[in-house]
Amino acid sequence: GSNDKADEMASVPTESTTSHGGADPFAKNGLHDIEAVLKSRGVDAFYRAVQGWTEDGYALLDGRKVVMAGSNDYLGLSRHPRVLAAAVEAIGRYGASVSGSRALNGTIELHETLEARLARFLGQEAAALATTGFQAGLALSAALGRDDVAFGDIRNHASLVDGMRMGLGTVRSYRHRDPDHLRQRLRAAAGPGGRLVVTDGVFSMEGDVAPLRALREVADESGARLIVDSAHDFGVLGRSGAGLTESAGLTDRIDLIIVTMSKALGSTGGVIAGPAANVRQLRYNARSLLFSAALPPASTAAALAALDVLEAEPERRDRLHRLGRLLHDGLRAMGFDTRPSTTPIVPVTFPDVPTAGAFWAGLCEAGVITNLSGPPAAKRAMLRVTVTAAHDTPHVEHVLRAFSAVADRLGTPRADEPLPPV
Ligand code: PMP
Repeated sequence: GSNDKADEMASVPTESTTSHGGADPFAKNGLHDIEAVLKSRGVDAFYRAVQGWTEDGYALLDGRKVVMAGSNDYLGLSRHPRVLAAAVEAIGRYGASVSGSRALNGTIELHETLEARLARFLGQEAAALATTGFQAGLALSAALGRDDVAFGDIRNHASLVDGMRMGLGTVRSYRHRDPDHLRQRLRAAAGPGGRLVVTDGVFSMEGDVAPLRALREVADESGARLIVDSAHDFGVLGRSGAGLTESAGLTDRIDLIIVTMSKALGSTGGVIAGPAANVRQLRYNARSLLFSAALPPASTAAALAALDVLEAEPERRDRLHRLGRLLHDGLRAMGFDTRPSTTPIVPVTFPDVPTAGAFWAGLCEAGVITNLSGPPAAKRAMLRVTVTAAHDTPHVEHVLRAFSAVADRLGTPRADEPLPPV
C-alpha cells in the first residue's frame, strides 16, 4: 500500500557523520532521495534536458518529439520571432550582461522603459525590476521590521515564504484561501507594528485562485497591507491580461503586486509594482534587489517585446483558456480529479508519489512531459499539467490520448476521495 512506499522513501540510507564525528551538513534527505526511489522503478522525472523545439511546437527530448505540458510559457511568447529579434538586438547593443547591480553601474535604459511600461500596464504608479521572480518575492523582507507581522496563505510560493522569513518581523500563516481564518489570525496578533497579508494570486501547483476581494476586506478591517504574487495570473486573467487584481477590480486597492517575467512574458526576471512609496522602499532597501546583477539586456528586451505582443494579441489569452478547458474537460471525462483548479494549470492528483511517478513515466513514454510533484512542494502527489498558447488542439488531444492509454494500463486514480486537510 501507499504506506510501504512512504516508508521505503523515508528509509533511504544517508551518510550522516563526518570524519570528526559531527553531522555532515550535506547529508540530508530531500528530493534526491525521492529521485533515487523513483529511478529504481525506472522513473527518471527530474532535471531532464530539452534539446530544442520543432517548428510545430514540440520539444525535443532524447531525440524524440514530445508535447511540453508542464511549461509556464502561458502565452507561447518564449520563442516568438519578435521576442527573439528584440533579445538579439539588445545583446548587440548592450552586451550579454550588465555586470553589476541596478543601483551602481548596472542600469540600462531598457530597464527604465520596461519598468514604466509594466507600471502602466498593471495600472500602478511605479514598478521596479528584480533579476528573478524569486528575488522579487525575497524583497518583501525589506518591509518587515521587528514589530511587524506578516500573514501568508499556507500554500504560498517558496519565494514569498522565504521573503517573509528573512524579514525581522513575526511570520504567521492562515489556512489556504480562508479569509475568516486570516481575520482570526489578525485579531490575535494585535500590536503596535505594521501588518502585511501576502498571497499567491493563482496558486502555482493546483491552479486555484485566491479570494482577493475578501482578503482585501479582512486586511482593511485591521489596517493591514495586501500583497499579491501574480506570477501565474499576469497575462492570463483580467480583461487586458493584467492579472487577478484587474479581474477582481482591485487595481487601485493593492499595496504591492509581484510578477515574474518567466511565465506569460516568456523571458526571465521579476517585478514589484504598486504605489510609488512602497516600490521605492523596496528598491532602496531590499537586499535581493540591491546586491545582485541586474536583469540581462536580452531578457529585458525580450520582456518588452513580449509585452507588446501580449497587448496587441489578446486572442492568445483566449486560445490559452480554450485549450485549458479542453484539457480540464477531457481529463474529468476520463474520471481524473482536477480539483480545485479553475485555470489552465491542471493538477491531476494521485494517492502517493511513486504512483504519480509511474504515471509520469507512462506519459513520457507516450510523448507527454508533465510536472511531477508532491509534498512539501504541493499538497498532494500530483502531475501538474499546463497548456500554452503555443499549443493547438492536436497537442491537447495528444495529451488526452496519452492519459487515456496510461490509465488503461495503470488505472485511473480515484476521483472521489476527499481532499486531505491542509
Ligand atoms: N512566485 C510564484 C507564485 C511562482 O510560481 C514562481 C515560479 N515558480 C515564482 C514566484 C518565481 O519566479 P521566477 O521563476 O521568475 O524566479
